Amino acid sequence: MTDTIFALATARGKAGIAVVRVSGPLALEAARALGVTGLKSRRVAFRQLVTDGEVLDSGLVLFFEQGASFTGDTVVEFQIHGGEAVVSALLKFLGTLPGLRLAGPGEFTRRALENGMLDLTQVEALADLIDSETEAQRRQAQRVLSGAIGQRAADWRRDLIRAAALIEATIDFADEDIPVNVIPEVCAIVDQLANAFQAEIEGSHGTERIRAGFEVAIIGAPNVGKSSLLNALVGRDAAITSSVAGTTRDVIEVRMDIGGLPVTLLDTAGLRDTDDEIEKIGVDRAKERARLADLRVLLLAPGDTVAPANVDIGDIVVWGKADLAPVPQGLSSVNGFGLDRLIEEIGQRLQRRVSGSGLLIRDRQRLAIARASESMVSAQRWLYSEDPSLELAAADIRSASYALDVLVGKIGVELLLDEIFSSFCIGK
Ligand code: GDP
Repeated sequence: MTDTIFALATARGKAGIAVVRVSGPLALEAARALGVTGLKSRRVAFRQLVTDGEVLDSGLVLFFEQGASFTGDTVVEFQIHGGEAVVSALLKFLGTLPGLRLAGPGEFTRRALENGMLDLTQVEALADLIDSETEAQRRQAQRVLSGAIGQRAADWRRDLIRAAALIEATIDFADEDIPVNVIPEVCAIVDQLANAFQAEIEGSHGTERIRAGFEVAIIGAPNVGKSSLLNALVGRDAAITSSVAGTTRDVIEVRMDIGGLPVTLLDTAGLRDTDDEIEKIGVDRAKERARLADLRVLLLAPGDTVAPANVDIGDIVVWGKADLAPVPQGLSSVNGFGLDRLIEEIGQRLQRRVSGSGLLIRDRQRLAIARASESMVSAQRWLYSEDPSLELAAADIRSASYALDVLVGKIGVELLLDEIFSSFCIGK
């Protein structure tokens, strides 16, 4: 029999309400041990929790029958008052009940996976949703959590099975007259899947950016006002999610939310020509970092002209200190002129890069689709060859199917599970 596990599902610390979740065959027993009876599946009940004849707390109790809960187990959730002592008392009591134990990190979600309530891509999306800081991240995680990848994988699998069955029929009846030539239909399916997989891989560049964030570097000559611009942008936008120390002392990083996208602004203000060998390494590294950024904002002094060699296509060029010398593309960190327009411009440019982004949100998922894609390309080679081989094309179709099973976690993921769930905390 599976263990019954329990944990605090909400964050630790004082709060209006805390949720303690119990999942497993003994969940109802645990409720009964607290004097809670008469629960109906998927109904809320207001109850007192009583231990040793004394009221521990009162609150809402929810019961989900097996198969109808998040984990797929029988689940009872206690919504109690969110005081440290209240939560500790309930957890302590549950720990004394035979057959119950504290859940490990991510164990509720792991059960949901094992019980088929979520596929692996949904588990990954759930981790992303909980970690999401911006609107674009939330929306992306939500899309995958709803099962969109699993749905697509099921459609692709159905097509692969159809292609395999057509080939099977041809091979089985090789000695007889085949009623119809199946090759064109097989080719059509394989071509269409090859395109679909390719499109997913291409779309995944945007999703990766939404997940990991964009880097936007502010570049320009010393004293042109780069640090002031960074500070002004940061001061203006209340949506800074965190401020992290730069990885080198030459780059200052600030994480912001621009138009729902996670953006790390890089200020390379520390860049200056130097003879010091060690400092030079840092400066070179910072320059390289700015060069590799997703977008550069080149800040010029009033009256400067742009040397084309200094601007990449796609860079944003702005003139600073516009409070001193107003120009149309100007901005001022002192009076704030032009800052909103710059933020909007950055947002629009980044938005363009994520538009049309696909569904794959993890390297693992991308890898699985890349395998499926390779198999389709190989199948195309066998099918379109001068000397076509249906058997070998069928083998490729089978490997593509296998890759899709790996994608949704049906097979081949045992080794991955510990790693995936280690990023979850207890209670998830
Ligand atoms: P950086 O070396 O490019 O990072 O430049 P700083 O941000 O350190 O600014 C250099 C000098 O220009 C400082 O004295 C700032 O006060 C000044 N400065 C920066 N931005 C503006 C601006 O928009 N208007 C005015 N009038 N002065 C500015």
